[in-house]
Amino acid sequence: MDRKTFLRTTLAGAAALAVAPGSLVSCASPEKKSSTPLRLSFQEGITPGESLAEKLDFMEELGITGFEPGGRGLAGRVQEIRSALVGRNIQVSAICAGFDGFMLAEDPAVKASFDTSMREIVRAAGELGSTGVIMVPVFNWQTPALPHTLETREYLCEQLHELGEFALSCGTTVILEPLNRKEAFYLRLVSDAAAICRDAQSEGVKCMGDFWHMQEETSDYAAFMAAGSYLRHVHIASRGNRVMPGEDGEVDNYTDGFRALKELEYPYYVSFECGCRAEDRAATLTNAVNLLRSQWEQA
Ligand code: MG
Repeated sequence: MDRKTFLRTTLAGAAALAVAPGSLVSCASPEKKSSTPLRLSFQEGITPGESLAEKLDFMEELGITGFEPGGRGLAGRVQEIRSALVGRNIQVSAICAGFDGFMLAEDPAVKASFDTSMREIVRAAGELGSTGVIMVPVFNWQTPALPHTLETREYLCEQLHELGEFALSCGTTVILEPLNRKEAFYLRLVSDAAAICRDAQSEGVKCMGDFWHMQEETSDYAAFMAAGSYLRHVHIASRGNRVMPGEDGEVDNYTDGFRALKELEYPYYVSFECGCRAEDRAATLTNAVNLLRSQWEQA
């Protein structure tokens, strides 16, 4: 191929590529429309209402089918939560942390406190039929922590293997949550969490993505696709100030990530973890849910 032919071919290729993505999406999407439903969940503090029953009533009215309680004190709440869910179309989604200590603590006593309290929460999570217990191996502010080295990663995988096997024996999982670098430089990307799940070699070790922390990602779509079957939970908030989806206006666009969840036929929950700027929490929540449902439809 001479230089002229090469250039012509390359330019034609480039032109085709420049046109392709848009036309592929518009031509292919009708028959590719996934029937995967959007399963929404609320953390306990999201919902207006004094009692758990009032909160669940509100959720039911909005068609929310997942409930994400915190892990602290969960063992003492199993009966309360079970009874409150009887006869409702709501299940416990994930359990949000709530343990003492942390996995990568340098101090053996802090590590032991993590092991004991985390296992207690995992046991309760299993009794509640939860998808898993969310954990962060270490926040930036948790010191002294093991150094960020290859040896520590191997230790992390070994520890997660043990914990994951324990979680499986309880009928649940542990879910690694990547955060942003300001909160946890140890684990920032969904794909990195997924790679740790793979290397932990336990079906009981899964990961999640949080649209708020996913500001670290270059692509929401790629992040979820990379996690694939390791993806067990998703958190959602507005993308500017971590309030209700929609409260930050146009930046609150989740369609790229939703497209991946639909392609993956993601069977778990997208759970609200956010504040609320507006005074009327009930109306803001309703708008947020409508926004997400319409973006899911578009994705
Ligand atoms: Mg989160």
